[in-house]
Amino acid sequence: MSEHRTTVAGVTVDTRHWIGGQRVASPRTFTDASPIDGAPIGEISRGTATEAGAAVAAAKVAFPGWAATSRAERARILHAIADGVEKRLEELANVETVDNGALLRSHRRGVMPRVAHNFRFFADWLLTLEHEDFATRGHTNHVTWDPAGPCVLITPWNAPLMLATWKVAPALAAGNTVVLKPAEWSPLTASLLADITAEAGLPAGVLNIVQGYGSEIGDALTSHPDVRRISFTGSVPTARHIAAAAAANLTPLSLELGGKSPLLVFADADLDLAVDLAVEQYDNAGQVCLAATRLLVEEAVAEEFTRRFVARASRLRQGDPREESTDIGPTIHPRQVAKIDGFVRRALAAGARAVIGGHPGEGQYYAPTLLTDVRQDSEIVQEEVFGPVLTLQTFSGEDEAVHLANDTRFGLAATLATGDPERAERVTARLVAGTVWVNCFFVRDLKAPFGGSRHSGIGREGGTWSFDFYCDLKNTVTAPKGWRHHG
Ligand code: NAP
Ligand code: MG
Repeated sequence: MSEHRTTVAGVTVDTRHWIGGQRVASPRTFTDASPIDGAPIGEISRGTATEAGAAVAAAKVAFPGWAATSRAERARILHAIADGVEKRLEELANVETVDNGALLRSHRRGVMPRVAHNFRFFADWLLTLEHEDFATRGHTNHVTWDPAGPCVLITPWNAPLMLATWKVAPALAAGNTVVLKPAEWSPLTASLLADITAEAGLPAGVLNIVQGYGSEIGDALTSHPDVRRISFTGSVPTARHIAAAAAANLTPLSLELGGKSPLLVFADADLDLAVDLAVEQYDNAGQVCLAATRLLVEEAVAEEFTRRFVARASRLRQGDPREESTDIGPTIHPRQVAKIDGFVRRALAAGARAVIGGHPGEGQYYAPTLLTDVRQDSEIVQEEVFGPVLTLQTFSGEDEAVHLANDTRFGLAATLATGDPERAERVTARLVAGTVWVNCFFVRDLKAPFGGSRHSGIGREGGTWSFDFYCDLKNTVTAPKGWRHHG
């Protein structure tokens, strides 16, 4: 570890900002730690309003050139970035695992391939993006997706590079320039992405990265008058703050926020499938925005479901995320462990019963927990915990199921387990959620609209919806030859 570099899992990572194609250091640093053992792994440049302003300025300077670059050339460079991600996949997977504690095997097989796919998908989608011209009294209407300008992208730590590139790729494809602010608890892979984009030939200033504390540099980015879009993934309180800052310039926002999503298990469901879906909610130690943390089970099968769930969950192995056999890794930060435990303590004090877990383990490893005897209006049912903590409630009939499912301030996702396709259709139509999965979970096509209702977010990204957000849509109306205005 030096002032400007660190070596993590054998990979050298630059710990400075990336502004206008240059590495830039701040006078101060902050310490990045690994959730695996709490050990420090890097001294990261701690950005201030000065570096935030420099990054936006670099993005502004680079914008006209990148916006004027042909679609084909932009797509070619995005594919070259994807090639670079694939070439360095092992390095990215290892660094991310040490930095944020999620499983190495899922980084290798799922997450990092998806990072490459983010670039390939939006490169290819860009080339197909078109709207048929149409006529109005002989005039032609021609719709174009014009680049909007510098975009500020702010991302969380639970899936750092995947969530960052899900924004970076469409923003760049659209012809915009970017200032990315990664989360302070997982800053490293974004820095490797800077190297990869430079090697792929992305011009200087098109992608800029500012490291640091959101509380210190956030406002300088989100209230900047030269910023044309802000896309944020994170928590509701931060979203409120950003929306207020963006209001100064009426900067368009896309907000992907938290959730308290339900898994509805009907008595007609394949119970083993339902149990698998429920246990899957402990993935990434529960640090998944989409997680169906509220298990809603029809009374008639609740006892049997619980018995099978406990049997299945007790086989989960928690430990070092680098081990192939590990199912659940650590929680990102000691502060997060304390937060999770606070939720669980208060729920137990209010009368909840821990069927499994209900306490912290060693270090940053929180025991997978299932709580029953919880009230619908209680904190543990209403608030996002963002840890391996599930609640179980029972219902009787569709009306009650839908009522419980919809009765929080969130609306990110919902999962249904049922053997009756007509029931699935009826219930889905009544659910408030950006995504509904029927007898499956976490299948996410980049073509699909993604986002949340209510406090789970504003707007949708994915496929054409991403380009609608990142572009200034323009309709050009052209008169037929020889046309005269007759008043
Ligand atoms: P967070 O505290 O809101 O932080 C998210 C990002 O915002 C971080 O980069 C953070 O920087 C930055 N930030 C903090 N204060 C800021 C400010 N005043 N101005 C601008 N940026 C600021 O969220 P988190 O705890 O990292 O992430 C977990 C949350 O994200 C959960 O609620 C989860 O559900 C949600 N999430 C949603 C989705 C989705 O797609 N819907 C996906 C994943 C996660 P620092 O790191 O320096 O604090
Ligand atoms: Mg870290």
